[in-house]
Amino acid sequence: MSQPSERADVAVIGGGPGGYVAALCAAQRGARVILVEKERVGGTCLNIGCIPTKALETGAEVKVSQFPFSANPRAHILREMDGMVRLVCEAGSGRVLGVHLLGPRASDLVAEGALAVQLGATADDLAWTTHAHPTLPEAMLEAALGFRGAAIHGQSR
Ligand SMILES: Cc1cc2nc3c(=O)[nH]c(=O)nc-3n(C[C@H](O)[C@H](O)[C@H](O)COP(=O)(O)OP(=O)(O)OC[C@H]3O[C@@H](n4cnc5c(N)ncnc54)[C@H](O)[C@@H]3O)c2cc1C
Repeated sequence: MSQPSERADVAVIGGGPGGYVAALCAAQRGARVILVEKERVGGTCLNIGCIPTKALETGAEVKVSQFPFSANPRAHILREMDGMVRLVCEAGSGRVLGVHLLGPRASDLVAEGALAVQLGATADDLAWTTHAHPTLPEAMLEAALGFRGAAIHGQSR
């Protein structure tokens, strides 16, 4: 997407699921797009709705670890640094309950998260899995390391 200082064809206000998809669709059709977000990218769905509340409905005490693509080297190479990987894990065991992905190649990266949920993997399992460098899946690794406050390329949140 365009930098805010550049001229744009489309300006989308709000970086929730609706705004993000609208911006992506416009960009895919060749428009120069600006996406303006007031608070946290991901809107209600990623931050307070959908997966966080579904995880709480299971009765699990959850711990969230997230890592921004702005700290991922491959995202810098691609110049697509918006977005993040977020792991929603069972607080004690670190079992992965859900994964939020917003950013470059999210639909490819989600397969690792789906496998983790399917197999009952923990954040430590993901952290001990080899991830090539520099790649986008390293953001998943970093979020997993962040579960124990040990992200390599930056502070996970
Ligand atoms: C508890 C709960 C559980 C849910 N569970 C599910 C579920 O399981 N499955 C499902 O499909 N849906 C679920 N939803 C609904 C889903 O979260 C919403 O449908 C979805 O978030 C709507 O997306 P949106 O982009 O339209 O709006 P929002 O997610 O609200 O995003 C709007 C964005 O615009 C930004 N914004 C607002 N004003 C401005 C401004 N002036 N300038 C710049 N930015 C601005 C906001 O900060 C926000 O990021 C749930 C909702 C809740 C509350």
